[in-house]
Amino acid sequence: MSQSGALPISISQVTKRYGDVYALDNVDLEVKRGEFLTLLGPSGSGKTTLLMALAGFTRPDHGSIRFGDNEIILTPPHKRDVGMVFQSYALFPHMDVAANVGFPLKLRKVGKAEIADRVNEALETVQLVGYGERRVNQLSGGQKQRVALARAIVFSPRILLMDEPLSALDKKLREHMQIELRHLHEKLGMTTVYVTHDQREALTMSDRIAVINHGRLMQLDTPRAIYDRPANRFVADFIGESTFLELGMNNGQLTFGGDVIKAPGWSGDAGKPALILRPERLVITSRSAGKTMNLFTATVRELVYQGDTSLMYAGLADGTEVTVRAGTRTGAAIENISIGDDITLGLHPDDTVVIDEAGEEVAS
Ligand code: ADP
Ligand code: MG
Repeated sequence: MSQSGALPISISQVTKRYGDVYALDNVDLEVKRGEFLTLLGPSGSGKTTLLMALAGFTRPDHGSIRFGDNEIILTPPHKRDVGMVFQSYALFPHMDVAANVGFPLKLRKVGKAEIADRVNEALETVQLVGYGERRVNQLSGGQKQRVALARAIVFSPRILLMDEPLSALDKKLREHMQIELRHLHEKLGMTTVYVTHDQREALTMSDRIAVINHGRLMQLDTPRAIYDRPANRFVADFIGESTFLELGMNNGQLTFGGDVIKAPGWSGDAGKPALILRPERLVITSRSAGKTMNLFTATVRELVYQGDTSLMYAGLADGTEVTVRAGTRTGAAIENISIGDDITLGLHPDDTVVIDEAGEEVAS
């Protein structure tokens, strides 16, 4: 099971309609060989439909899907050489762990001795050595999901597809399994398409994230680029927390309340630019100390202590309410602030991300 066996995936103009609903609307997407790519989007955005199209359980109305050089759109699921893990585990309750894991090999008419070897190897990979004779219904949720994973990788597929595999687990186990799956991917090197609606999970696990909404690709990028440079309002809103500040234009410069806004990364020239404000990127400063930053005068409306961080809600001159998240270290700036205070908020130019009207149109 090495990276050399991994295949790139090329999805081109794939559309799937159910009545009036476009579950997939002209999707173009390239998954690199050996990459861990996550499909991230809200419920009903088309994630499962796309995964099922890759697995062969859903036939798109149009478009092409290639694994390596081969068009597979007409290839039945069992001939696609993909491993699949579902949210619901989909294990056979009447079989023991070894029989569940060995099932794909049995289907492929592999001999008994080899099945036993490969099942043991797969169980070792998912850290379930010695569990072969356990009954599935004696296992915890996390163990069941590991069995499902072992079953998906036991026949050395060149592509691994996972649809919300961790969403039934509690938070702590989920976070542990995220790291484990990431390590497993590094070890096995299979091209992996992973589905989640959980942005933090996507940011944690992925080489790249494809954000989708209403069956359309909104942005395809690394986790850092998705978070730091969202391409449009939908992505900025769906990933992390954002307040949008409508900006003005004056002689080609962006302005807010008469002040010029420094936004080095902005190349747009549309009529309706908006600034994305992330709570953790705003700092409390002063006019003199924050000279190199974009500065906003604000009135403190609410302070909320949350243990590791504090939240401050503050109103800007135009009435927009912004959220500021600050650490709760003793002596931190936020400790000395009271409701009703007028303060200065600073935003570093590198954190100043402006989207234009075109961005809004993509998201509408
Ligand atoms: P996600 O996995 O992102 O929650 P899905 O791919 O399951 O989204 O669904 C995308 C859209 O397609 C939704 O509007 C859903 O209702 C619709 N849809 C999916 N499968 C079917 C189906 N078999 N019949 C009718 N509509 C479907
Ligand atoms: Mg789904």
